Parts: sequence; C-alpha cells; structure tokens
Amino acid sequence: MRNKEMLLIPGPTPVVDSIYDSLALETRSHTDPRFAAIYKGAIEKTRQMLKTDGEVFVIAGSGTVAMEMALVNTVASGEKILVISHGYFGDRFIQLGEAFGIEVDVLQSEWGKRVNPDDVEKKLANGKFKAVTITHADTSTGVAADLDALVPIIKKHGALVILDGVCATAAMEEDMSKTYGHPNYKIDVVLTGSQKAIGVPPGLAIVAFNKTALAAREQIERVPAYYCDIHNWIPIMNDPGKYFATPPVNLIYAYDEGMKLVLNEGMENRYKRHKAFGKAVRAALVVYGLKALAEEDAAAPTLSCILYPEGINDAAFRASLAKKGVIVAGALSHLAGKAFRIGHMGNTTEQMLEKAIVRIGETMNELGYLVDTAKAVECFKEVVYSRVV
Ligand SMILES: *Cc1c(COP(=O)(O)O)cnc(C)c1O
Repeated sequence: MRNKEMLLIPGPTPVVDSIYDSLALETRSHTDPRFAAIYKGAIEKTRQMLKTDGEVFVIAGSGTVAMEMALVNTVASGEKILVISHGYFGDRFIQLGEAFGIEVDVLQSEWGKRVNPDDVEKKLANGKFKAVTITHADTSTGVAADLDALVPIIKKHGALVILDGVCATAAMEEDMSKTYGHPNYKIDVVLTGSQKAIGVPPGLAIVAFNKTALAAREQIERVPAYYCDIHNWIPIMNDPGKYFATPPVNLIYAYDEGMKLVLNEGMENRYKRHKAFGKAVRAALVVYGLKALAEEDAAAPTLSCILYPEGINDAAFRASLAKKGVIVAGALSHLAGKAFRIGHMGNTTEQMLEKAIVRIGETMNELGYLVDTAKAVECFKEVVYSRVV
C-alpha cells in the first residue's frame, strides 16, 4: 500500500493502491458511454450489496447528504419521526428533522450504552411516527444498534426504518431483503458514505430505498429539496448516461473498484472479519489497561471509543502516535480529551492493526505508563486469527 500513514480514524479509512489507480484514470465526460457503463456497474454493485427491491442512489456528497436524502424523501414537514440515538451521529437526525419542519421525538442512551427496545415500543405505541432513525454504528461512542431487536418493533407499528450505515455499510449486515420476523418487516432505507467501511475516499453519498420507502416519496407533494429529491435522480440511476447534476467521475471509478473489492471478499466474510477486528483490537488494548466505552456485547465491529486511564494526556498521546505513523481520532463532545477513537474497518488489514497495537503500547511506555506490547500483540493475534472465514 502506498499510504505513508495508517489512517485509523473512524473515516476516512485507508485507501488501497487499486483504488488510487482508479481515481487517477482519465477524466471523461459524465455522459460518455464508457463512463456511463462504469457508473451503471457501480450502482449495480451497490444494489447487490444491499439487496433492495427499490432504487439505489450514488451521488456526490458526504454521509450527511445521504442522511438528508433519506429523510426528506420519506417524511413530510409536520410528520413525526423517532430518533434512536446512541451518540453524536444519532443526534444529527434531530437537527436534520428540525431543519425541515419535521416533528422529532428522541430516545437517547447514556453514551456507551444502548437504548432499551422496551422504551422504543412504548414511544411507538403512544404516538404516530412516520419513520424511526437508527444509527447502525455510532461513530462517537462505538455503540452498535441491535437491528434484530429494533426492526420488528418499528415495523409492527407501521413506521419506516431509516438506517444510518455511514460507519457500518459493507462491514455489518444491512440486507434489505432480510425479513425480521414477518415477511413485511424489512429495513426500508439504508444510507452511507464512501469513506468509511467501504474504504473509498470521501465524496459520495449512497442511499438505498425499498419499494415501501419509494411509495412514501410519492405521498409527499413537494419535497423541500432539489438536489436531494430522488425524483431528479431516479432517471439517472436507471440510465447513468443522462444528466441531472455532474457526478464526480473519478470518484465513481474509485467507488466501482472499491465495490469490486467488497463483493469479491464477500459480505459474510466481511462481517466476520470486522467482528474479529473489533474484538481483537479491544482485547489487545485491555492488556494495556485501556477499556472501551461500550460494553463488548454492544460494541461496534468497525470502530472503538477507548477511554484513557488516569494520567494519559490526549493531545500528547495522539501526537506521539502520529509521529509513529498511526493516526487515531479524538473523542467528541463531553468525552473530548478523555478518550480516543480507533477505526478498524474497510480495507484496513490485520497487519496494520497489529502494528498499531505495538505503536500504541510504545506511546504509552513513552508517556510513563508501562505496558507489555508483546503480550498485547499475542492477544490480538489469538483473537483476530481465530475467526472461521
Ligand atoms: C461519519 C458519519 C456521518 C457523517 O458523514 P459525513 O460523511 O461526515 O457527512 C453520519 N453518520 C455516521 C454514523 C457517521 O459515522
């Protein structure tokens, strides 16, 4: 890999050479049939990954654009949503809803914990909600949502399930053809960005709607958006040689290559690999006396939020680690300075994570917190290679 640093933040994630090579291909007209064929292939691969019976959209934008597209096309101003929030990114749906005159009710967990499904049941039984938003892996806390528990409750009450997969898609199961206890209980909308578990540079918003979600769009007379109105994009997604707004041509090349890697590895293998990555990283860090904010059974496979022990300075820790070529992220909101976040997703490898574990140990030793790197590596390897692929 020609990367000089290991970008182990919760996105963007490390980019492999074949993706860089795709990015550097000749820029062609966005209506050139040769480009249109690649765009079509990229859309098709997205459909294959998410298995929706509706439409997928791959457009220029970040994950937040994808969140906006998901919401404004399914919920009208004046209608109500329930936000299930496990942190900062869950909360983003509150502001987003309010920006469009959507009524917002929210269930927030304590950071590091999950919302109790019984509370979701109670909320939905006592109000009329058009949709419920779930953040699959909240990037601020490292908490993963339990879809098996939440989806049946939401669908039973007739609301749409909008799943934010920005830190999960391609690493955690988001199968839109899967039924959750009843033939009609399915995830209605999945949204994501290119730069996290898919492992492509930032710049693409990816959204999949099933037929139920598309029908919800038809009930909205005027969507308070232009770029994000799916009516403007459906013709393009079905015939990518058509024009609505110029797609990021080179990024589409890169995304197509990224999706080839995703599908070649296989979704089941990817789910297992990411589960093993999460478990192994956290188990190794425990050897250093570092504990994840989330309990292991609620912890995300894609990233971890790790609390510092007493006496470790966040800025010094991350700066020293960065000098060694390992980039991790600080924590958000009230956890800033008290924890760091490490991503372990996308095209990140076992070898990179093993090296990162060593560098983290060395950094702690430098900061006067003596730890056993060999033991941590042993623990990492034991967990990461024990998965059955
Ligand atoms: C990163 C992230 C977002 C925001 O995506 P941007 O690409 O930064 O706009 C939203 N939700 C989750 C869960 C994320 O991890």
